[in-house]
Amino acid sequence: MFVNFVVPCYNEEAVLPETAQRLSALIDRMVASGIVSAESGIYFVDDGSRDRTWSLISDLQIGRPCRYHGIKLSRNCGHQSALLAGLRHTPGDALISIDADLQDDVEVVPAMIEEFRLGHDVVYGVRQGRQSDSTFKRHTAGAYYRLLRSLGVDVVLDHADFRLMSRRALTALAKYHEVNVFLRALVPLLGYKSTNVYYDRSPRLAGESKYPLGKMVALALNGITSFSMRPLRLIAYAGLIMSAVSFLVGMWALYIVLLTSRGVPGWASIVVPVAFVGGLQLASMGVIGEYIGKIYMEVKHRPLFEIEEIR
Ligand code: UDP
Ligand code: MG
Repeated sequence: MFVNFVVPCYNEEAVLPETAQRLSALIDRMVASGIVSAESGIYFVDDGSRDRTWSLISDLQIGRPCRYHGIKLSRNCGHQSALLAGLRHTPGDALISIDADLQDDVEVVPAMIEEFRLGHDVVYGVRQGRQSDSTFKRHTAGAYYRLLRSLGVDVVLDHADFRLMSRRALTALAKYHEVNVFLRALVPLLGYKSTNVYYDRSPRLAGESKYPLGKMVALALNGITSFSMRPLRLIAYAGLIMSAVSFLVGMWALYIVLLTSRGVPGWASIVVPVAFVGGLQLASMGVIGEYIGKIYMEVKHRPLFEIEEIR
């Protein structure tokens, strides 16, 4: 069985040698026990790094051309696009995607391959605990996964991008041409048979997180707006309710003016609904704008990445 690892790397010079060495040792062990074939290897995707990442990958490749491979993107395209580039351009009966910092436990890889043998096209690596993550990340991530699910997006709880995919699943994935990529929700859409393997997430090997808050929020928003139309529908409902309420308020104002002698109707009864409806309209326009932005991006059919070199 020909299995390759796909590892997106953005400024990962601090962890790359260690990661390469550990993954390679794992492959050696799996080759020795007959789980994978000898030509199995590792494809590093350099996502426009500014440090020595690409030269380290090149050195690895020159030293052991059958084990190490590199795919260099012409600029920083982001984690999801880099991963997709790797998944589209790496050969193999099955591919395993994993982050360069080895926070995910590679010791479950043989179990993943076993599940693949048993007929699963997708095997998700799922975190058992998040002890190594900060309290902030733990709580926001948990709430986010719950929000996604309540919006009707099918995601595997506590699964990031550590997963095995069969060639069949990869061929199916290649038919998705969207620009706003959120693989975590895209892969379950493929619908093939899948299962989970569980592991404990460790701290980063070295270096800093390449996911600052801004990128994390962007990914989180992408997950919602790329997969759920429910926010739009909620706005429509809210709009209906608000119209009904303002109609009642209007009737009440008329009643005060025409049928009672209580004089000038209250200033608040005018200003409050006006302000409230105004705010609601603005919020609605914001969300609608978000979706129009998406349509705009999709309609352009821009390529997600440009491969500069494959070696
Ligand atoms: N990464 C990438 N491009 C980016 C940002 C990150 O390819 O623009 C890669 C990074 O090298 C790592 C993976 O995505 O292999 C996950 O990043 P990181 O470990 O920093 O995220 P965290 O674990 O902190 O969420
Ligand atoms: Mg990490």
